[in-house]
Amino acid sequence: MEMCENISQCGFFLNFKGNSEVLQKSWIKLFCEDKTKSEKCERKKIRKQTGKPPIDNMAPTGKIL
Ligand code: SF4
Repeated sequence: MEMCENISQCGFFLNFKGNSEVLQKSWIKLFCEDKTKSEKCERKKIRKQTGKPPIDNMAPTGKIL
């Protein structure tokens, strides 16, 4: 399966993929590991709109951890 193209440079993925809430909510599976679903990621939208990534602790849903 094709993953989100930001995965290698995404601060959330790199630093929070092992976080207990992230694991519990399966956010990596629900967003990062599926390119189609990753289009709904709030982080990805912000990066596209502003050209910059949001703070690392913002989840794909927009929630601040
Ligand atoms: S958090 Fe969003 S931008 Fe980052 S890798 Fe996952 S889907 Fe892509």
